[in-house]
Amino acid sequence: MAFSSGEELIRLCEAEGISISEAMLRAEVERGKQNREEVLDFARKTLEVMRKSYQEPLEKPVKSIGGIMNGEGHKLAQRLKNGENLCGPLVTKAIAYSMSVMEQNSAMGCVVAAPTAGSSGVMPGVFFAMQEERGLSDDELIKGFLCAGAVGYLYMRNASVAGAEAGCQAEIGAASAMTAAAVVEMCGGTPAQALSASAISISNLLGLVCDPIAGLVQYPCQMRNAMGASNALTCAEIVLSGTMGIVPFDEMLDTMYKIGKDMPSSLRETALGGCAATPTGCKWRNKIFGSKESKDGKESKE
Ligand code: SF4
Repeated sequence: MAFSSGEELIRLCEAEGISISEAMLRAEVERGKQNREEVLDFARKTLEVMRKSYQEPLEKPVKSIGGIMNGEGHKLAQRLKNGENLCGPLVTKAIAYSMSVMEQNSAMGCVVAAPTAGSSGVMPGVFFAMQEERGLSDDELIKGFLCAGAVGYLYMRNASVAGAEAGCQAEIGAASAMTAAAVVEMCGGTPAQALSASAISISNLLGLVCDPIAGLVQYPCQMRNAMGASNALTCAEIVLSGTMGIVPFDEMLDTMYKIGKDMPSSLRETALGGCAATPTGCKWRNKIFGSKESKDGKESKE
């Protein structure tokens, strides 16, 4: 790749007078496997999978395996239709669509890991809300997609996107940081602004643990996708107003990863801490998987 850090990416963009999406497109071509048109064609197809992943559960609400999720995206969309929403159409659609994608994921439907299945609602939620509310074309979304891909690449290269390795701050955190940069670029911001929105996004989610109830990627995951979507829009809005984050992207990514490494394993997708270990979380686990008292009086899964 032509860049291995946020600093190098911004330097490259400024030296060449190009956007982050263009830098990512060139980097993909330089890898030698696809030409420009093939990369864009792949992005177009991926965008269509994303579109379906939020639309299907909105039209036909989905109950998740175990029953934790059941048409939450549809309820939010209905509230917006009824003119009762608090957050305005852009944010309400972003959170409704992001939650719908998680319903699709939990029902074993097709989603785009962006960057993971557990965080697959953030980007489509924001992108398609932006398309509807700001009239963006598919080509503009694809540029946002490539911009997000550059941020995701830096996460994968220099840190992690896995809740099991560095907590939800890495997983939802990556999706939110990728989307924040994309929103800035799609709104005409500079590469430096886009990465600054990512950096602020990372700082907002530092320390977020991975604690899925019953070990299923459902709760709090669905709510966290909604939060990751609204965080991305918030950070983009701050930067586009002219306020930049103080700590650069690379430093924020590095500190996020260090915090993740310091997290106890109970808070890294083992379902032994956080939400999963609350009395209610344990009740859901028992309801879904069953439990029995062992001889030493401790509960164990059946
Ligand atoms: S809580 Fe864990 S499994 Fe759920 S979205 Fe966050 S990182 Fe993924």
